Amino acid sequence: MSFAALWESLLPLGRDAGSGGYRRFSWTPADAECRRWFLQAAAERNLRAITDRNGNLWAWWDVPRADPGAGPAGAVVAGSHLDSVPDGGAYDGPLGVVTAFAAIDLLRERGKAPARPLAVAAFCEEEGARFGVACLGSRLLAGAIEPARARALTDSGGITFAEAMTAAGQDPDALGPDQALVGGIGAYVELHIEQGRGLGDLDAAIGVAERIWPHGRWRLTFTGRADHAGTTRLGDRRDPMLAAAATILAARGAAARHGALTTVGKLTVDPGAVNAISSSVTAWLDARAPDEARLHAVVDDVLTQARTAAVAHGVDLGSAQESITPAVDFDAALRDRMVTALAATGIAAPILPTGAGHDAGVLAARVPAGMLFVRNPTGVSHSPAEHAEAGDCATGVTALAAVLADLACR
Ligand SMILES: [Zn+2]
Repeated sequence: MSFAALWESLLPLGRDAGSGGYRRFSWTPADAECRRWFLQAAAERNLRAITDRNGNLWAWWDVPRADPGAGPAGAVVAGSHLDSVPDGGAYDGPLGVVTAFAAIDLLRERGKAPARPLAVAAFCEEEGARFGVACLGSRLLAGAIEPARARALTDSGGITFAEAMTAAGQDPDALGPDQALVGGIGAYVELHIEQGRGLGDLDAAIGVAERIWPHGRWRLTFTGRADHAGTTRLGDRRDPMLAAAATILAARGAAARHGALTTVGKLTVDPGAVNAISSSVTAWLDARAPDEARLHAVVDDVLTQARTAAVAHGVDLGSAQESITPAVDFDAALRDRMVTALAATGIAAPILPTGAGHDAGVLAARVPAGMLFVRNPTGVSHSPAEHAEAGDCATGVTALAAVLADLACR
């Protein structure tokens, strides 16, 4: 089956008729449809499908006996995820799963057979859209989150991950690290639509990931004095909104100076009245940078300017780091090997970093992992407007097949 036919068969599942975006949330009917699609794609290819104890899907092309002389030890796995953010695009996740099945088709058309087990994987709850923790399935598999914590995560309706899993026919008591499965993997390769315009600017269809930038979230609370909008003279005000506004603008400038990215995408304002000066404003700063030194430099820069703004407007400032995720460096040997295999197929693939998290980043702590990116002309992602050209998707299949052939076949 061609990439296009397989892609078309997945396209209608979990799509919202109004927005055209996807609502494929873990353990919902839309998720069940995607899982059935995966199992059918595996069955059509005579691949051995399993759902692991953490709800991740695997389709195995088994080999009678792994050939120890064929490159790095262990199975070679390609995949991504099928779940989406609310009103997500068609490509984020599914492109990596569909291209993996299509790459297996291509290998078979070319008479290739793996010397080691080859699998397609689809990880559970990658977006964290329902239960709030991104890459939950791969974190559980890799032992990067406590099973008890995962079981207790709740969705917006108060349903726990354990309850949702049980309702879908899975046993939540089995959640947890799976050493037998992870220990058998020699390489994990995730093809993903690029979530930016890096490849477009480089005029390249395919890229190879270098690293995932370190990132973190900080909470800044500006506390002033609520007062009347009509009777309080300007000079008498202690308005936290002004300090917050100055800080948001400062964050943009700091990002430009440090070659980083900063975003304030969430504010809470108390009391939130049109005709009252606020008593307090809380702003959440998301910061990402090429390395940890620059991440801390840009955040320090923002906090310094926030303190200055707070003093200037006579308000108090409290700040707290809510989370920090270190950089992930993908396996250098695997990365170089992928670049070489692609070059041999006539695909010049630039190496580029990314500011987004992925299952490959979680698995990189346990197995050699790498990523291929497919050009996204607009760079828009997590939106129904997310798009990759059919020709670039086809090149993605060719690229992934070349990488899998190099890693798993001889
Ligand atoms: Zn994704």
